[in-house]
Amino acid sequence: MSIFRRIALSRFQTGIRNVSDQGRQRLVILGTGWGSYSVLKSINKVLYDVIVVSPRNHFLFTPLLASTTVGTLEFRSIIEPIRNTGFRETEHFHLSHAIGLDVNKKVLTCQSVIAPDNVYDIHYDRLVIGVGALPNTFGVPGVEEHAFFLKELNDARRIRNRILDNFELAIQPGVSNKERQQLLNIVIVGGGPTGVEFGAELYDFVKEDIARIYPSEIDDISVTLVEGNKILGNFDQRLQKYAEKKIRQRDKMRLIQSVVTEVYPNGVKLLDGTVLPAGLVVWSTGLSPRDFTKNLDLPKNKQGQFITDAYLRVKGDPHGCVFALGDCADIENKSLPCTAQVAERQGRYLANFLQTVESSPFEFKSMGMLAYIGKYEALTDMPGVKAQGFHSWLLWRSAYLTRLGSWRLRMQVPVDWLKTLLWGRDTSRF
Ligand SMILES: Cc1cc2nc3c(=O)[nH]c(=O)nc-3n(C[C@H](O)[C@H](O)[C@H](O)COP(=O)(O)OP(=O)(O)OC[C@H]3O[C@@H](n4cnc5c(N)ncnc54)[C@H](O)[C@@H]3O)c2cc1C
Repeated sequence: MSIFRRIALSRFQTGIRNVSDQGRQRLVILGTGWGSYSVLKSINKVLYDVIVVSPRNHFLFTPLLASTTVGTLEFRSIIEPIRNTGFRETEHFHLSHAIGLDVNKKVLTCQSVIAPDNVYDIHYDRLVIGVGALPNTFGVPGVEEHAFFLKELNDARRIRNRILDNFELAIQPGVSNKERQQLLNIVIVGGGPTGVEFGAELYDFVKEDIARIYPSEIDDISVTLVEGNKILGNFDQRLQKYAEKKIRQRDKMRLIQSVVTEVYPNGVKLLDGTVLPAGLVVWSTGLSPRDFTKNLDLPKNKQGQFITDAYLRVKGDPHGCVFALGDCADIENKSLPCTAQVAERQGRYLANFLQTVESSPFEFKSMGMLAYIGKYEALTDMPGVKAQGFHSWLLWRSAYLTRLGSWRLRMQVPVDWLKTLLWGRDTSRF
């Protein structure tokens, strides 16, 4: 047995008990994403000893993630350190992955992110699973190896550096015209909100900054969005068409209706055999379950999500004390979209349910959707309001500003927007 395992067991075996010294039950929350963070913020810590296990020690405001890939916003402006939420004890947050679960014994197995040899068990009285999901590669060859995803802050940082690398490389001596064009073509696979918003940010970056900083390269730049069906499939048809028309009208942007069948280090292959050269491929097509979710022997749906009842209780748990929410879960006979809005609302509901403030099943009423399409234009698809253009952009910005998790971020984000407006995006590479 490794030293870490021994230390961990001795430390946590004493913790394997039902209640704390003060008589509180132990609530373990997995993840620090939209669903889990919402439970953590809303739960009354007088009633529970709340322990969070997550490989990420911050909450990430995903709707603005695309803005960080080109420097419209800075990385730290859209994250909130999890320890700012206030834990009763410092060791109530574990920077670890959950790797196993025994629902009969109510024991969770965790593995430290920093020291992977450190594997240990934690007992829970109630468990909330909010581990989210991974991007879906659909088994397309080359995606894992060569494409970039846009899910976490590190992904955005990698994309930003790759874009800047490619621009610098393209102007170096010895680079042929063909190579330059390949380096400066960016392919986005998937025309959902993430793909479209990333394309919009890129378009603004090219028009507002690249044209000024790299004037000699502007002719070779292109951004290609590949989508098998209609872009923004969940939006109102008229708004979809508007976005499509706008994208098609833009120079430097192409919209191709096709399917990518292979990704190479320097491009992608389409269904008809066409090869598109690319210096960066960003893959944004749906979700698949994480290993933790896949490996648990609990009932799942076809997409590999945990099935829950209407109170978010996981099916197959004999004690009825394991809950799941957000992208990793599906309510039986009442599927909801995988969005931050759903996860956040489920988190608030669950906190109330666990505090017995709420006893009715979870109900979801959508507040609608917003999407940025570039050039100070957005789409608004809300109950009773279908709009597009500049006013929707103002709504998009103000809606997300108010949804940011703290006053620190609500101050930081407008400062970044203002800096971008006045001095352009920061193109430093580090
Ligand atoms: C770029 C982008 C833009 C988006 N824009 C919007 C938008 O505008 N509006 C909207 O409604 N939705 C949007 N979404 C979707 C939204 O972000 C997700 O639906 C939402 O994050 C789901 O919340 P969640 O809590 O289920 O999972 P997540 O927010 O993904 O959080 C999962 C958490 O679990 C942790 N975790 C992972 N594995 C483990 C493990 N083994 N053990 C413990 N913890 C683990 C992760 O580190 C993370 O903290 C966007 C998504 C992306 C990627």
